[in-house]
This record gives sequence, structure tokens and C-alpha cells, in this order.
Amino acid sequence: MGNSVLLSPTDNNQKALIKKLEQEAGTSISLCYQCGKCTAGCPAAFAMDYPPRQVIRMLQLGLTDMALNSNSIWICASCETCSSRCPRGVDIASLMDTMRREALKRGKTDKKVAEFNKAFLSNVKNFGRTFEAGLLLRHNLVTGQPFKDMELGLPMLKRGKASPLPHMIKGRQEMKKIFERVNQFGGEQ
Ligand code: SF4
Ligand code: SF4
Repeated sequence: MGNSVLLSPTDNNQKALIKKLEQEAGTSISLCYQCGKCTAGCPAAFAMDYPPRQVIRMLQLGLTDMALNSNSIWICASCETCSSRCPRGVDIASLMDTMRREALKRGKTDKKVAEFNKAFLSNVKNFGRTFEAGLLLRHNLVTGQPFKDMELGLPMLKRGKASPLPHMIKGRQEMKKIFERVNQFGGEQ
């Protein structure tokens, strides 16, 4: 089957944004024929306001604001099940990732989500992996809720379920180089 869905956005800004998202994600939304296989296999769809198939449909219709404001792009766990199952080869996981970056750039996400994203990336950049206790502490401090998670966090630290110090991987310098390279291409950190 050829491209079965015509793009309908008439606004040039929307068209340009959709083209940009497609280029950055390395995929084409016009390939999607709305079969729903992505949604059927998505382990996180139950928690999304719009499942993956509908997010793609929004982009096809030029509803970029709706797509970028959806919680779906943040609920997505980047597991890539959708991309591997799509019969049309649409890389939905990559699109979700691209939309997260775009939403951050445009300030379309609330402060807590943006700060969590920043803290998580900082963890990976500095330690090569996540450091849960540090991640939560930083996030809670910068979002003005210093005592949040204490009831859960302290018993976990006591029982050794969470470490008070970060575990670092060996190739941390390589990781930093990856982040520097992403920065050169205008990525968010
Ligand atoms: S699996 Fe592919 S073709 Fe089917 S709805 Fe999802 S993105 Fe579209
Ligand atoms: S990558 Fe995201 S949208 Fe795709 S199946 Fe996984 S959680 Fe769902």
C-alpha cells in the first residue's frame, strides 16, 4: 500500500515543524496507515493520554501542539517495541524521543518533568548510569519539595536497596564525549 494518509496541516510553521521532527527522528509519519500495531504492543499505552497510534495521527493532521503537550511522550519508556512491530517501518520510538526534546525546547512541559529530565541526563553524563538517590534528591530540591520520598528513601538506603554513593562505569570519559557531540548538534542536556 502506498502512503494512505495525506498531510492536512495548512500552516507553514506546522509543516516545517513536522518536517524537522521527521528529519531528526529519521522516519516518515506519512507511511503510517493507522493499523494500531504500535499501540497494541506498547507496554505504557495504558498510562498515556493518547496511545502511540493517535500521537502519529495528530502529527499527520498537523496537531503538533496537541502531540507536544501530551503526556504520552513522557510516559514512553523508549522500549522500541512499537518501532520493531510497525509494518510500515515508522520509527515511533525515535519520534517520541524527538518530540520530548522539542517539547523541552519550546517550554511545553511542566517544570518538574523538565527538571527530572535534566537531573537524569546529568546522572548519565557524570556517572555513566543512573544514581537513584542522587537523582531524587536533586530533583526534589530544585522543585521545592525536599522531604518528598523521604519515607520511602530512608528505609531503602538502610536496607541497601539504594546506594548513598554513585556507582560509576569505567568509560565515563567516552560518555562525556557522547554528550559533547550531542551538544554540538544542538541537543538538550
Ligand atoms: S504500527 Fe506503524 S502503521 Fe501501524 S499505526 Fe503504528 S505507526 Fe502506524
Ligand atoms: S517506545 Fe514508547 S511508544 Fe513505543 S512501545 Fe515502547 S513505550 Fe510504547
